[in-house]
Amino acid sequence: MRNADLVARDIKSVWHPCTQMKDYETLGPVPIKRGKGVWLEDFEGNRFIDAVSSWWVNLFGHANPRINAAIQEQIGELEHVILAGFTHEPVVNLSERLIEVTPEGLNKCFYADNGSSAVEAALKMSYHYWKNHGKPAKKNFVNLSNSYHGETLGALALGDVPLYKSTYAPLLMEVITAPSPDAYNKEAGETDEDFALRQFEVMEKILAEQHDEICAVVTEPLIQCAGGMRMHHPIYHTKLREACDRYGVHLIADEIAVGFGRTGTMFASEQSNITPDFMCLSKGLTAGYLPLSVVLTTNDVFDAFYDNYETLKAFLHSHSYTGNPIGCAVALATLDIFRDDNVIENNKHLSRVMAESVSHLADHPHVGDVRQQGMTLAIEMVKNKATKEPFPFAERRGMRVFKHGLTREALLRPLGNVSYFMPPYVITEEQIRHLGQVVTEGIDIAVRD
Ligand SMILES: *Cc1c(COP(=O)(O)O)cnc(C)c1O
Repeated sequence: MRNADLVARDIKSVWHPCTQMKDYETLGPVPIKRGKGVWLEDFEGNRFIDAVSSWWVNLFGHANPRINAAIQEQIGELEHVILAGFTHEPVVNLSERLIEVTPEGLNKCFYADNGSSAVEAALKMSYHYWKNHGKPAKKNFVNLSNSYHGETLGALALGDVPLYKSTYAPLLMEVITAPSPDAYNKEAGETDEDFALRQFEVMEKILAEQHDEICAVVTEPLIQCAGGMRMHHPIYHTKLREACDRYGVHLIADEIAVGFGRTGTMFASEQSNITPDFMCLSKGLTAGYLPLSVVLTTNDVFDAFYDNYETLKAFLHSHSYTGNPIGCAVALATLDIFRDDNVIENNKHLSRVMAESVSHLADHPHVGDVRQQGMTLAIEMVKNKATKEPFPFAERRGMRVFKHGLTREALLRPLGNVSYFMPPYVITEEQIRHLGQVVTEGIDIAVRD
């Protein structure tokens, strides 16, 4: 099998996600035969460092022996069983472990099989909670500008990235949008913290005026990932938690992308010292192996649904593969690696190396921002450094960096004009420095003409 053979067959039968398929007339999908650690390898021996963790899911490398072993062991016992009326060891063990590692007060785990589905479940639970408490008028949700929460209709409605949302706007429920604390938009001379506090004033006003009609505020703590890896100060969520308590509104933390160490702490909410009412997790939950997601919530929320069957207060929501045992076994192996290898602590060194590897780009005439939160680092190209005027989206400058990366053993799939590193934690210093070099070359090429 050669690369070209597989690509030719692919084009005939596969419709790729988040892709204008006509693009493949010029650059087809990259065929991957195998993965090992940070490396992905094609059919002709070319290899690429997976700098974006295959869309932010992979934590400990491809074909990780410990995770592979956990799958083997679980498959020999039980591949799947209905979770309504039945249970199994992996789901009980995982729930106990998740309650242990997440912020204090999250005591119940509800499972689904992808991030969007977890967001949907949290939205329905929040609305239903208020209804069970005799407050059916609370039916609106608040989000932040530039947010992303998935692609199913409910999750898409909660997002605010026009590229994904605009087309479907007529199909979507209306939400109340507060301005993001995204530090990229701060004024000259303003600190990230001051800007977050200033943006919070609008959120406070929305909650003060409309809390009778609001179930929950839904946010991505610390990094708006799909929105271009935009970052904000943790004070925003500390304030938001206080305000949600004051006004009787839930806080739904979508940690689907930022959870499991991406921001430098196990969960982003820790940096704001808060416990959300709902925490949605997926992506890193299974270290890039299998689709699984979970909504963690409080005893207070759980208790609002707990009653005799005929009251119809129960949360009658399910997915076929809810709590899949193999997925749970993988998640348990993932948590074991975090614990046994002291991952969060060891990542601190890697994130310093990431910063050093691109520190020179801060002075680049077409780099508007180099920003970092722990194990996530983003570089934003701009047309005009002084005004931060962006390159027009149709010029697709980020794709030029991506194409250069492929010639230099690096997978740097961009978000518009933003190139970023969100690597598996098994990456080495040397590999990070290589990525720093490749992205520098790529940006130099991308900004020409
Ligand atoms: C990826 C993502 C989702 C959606 O998860 P899927 O598994 O792709 O449905 C939701 N929220 C955030 C913050 C994400 O990054």
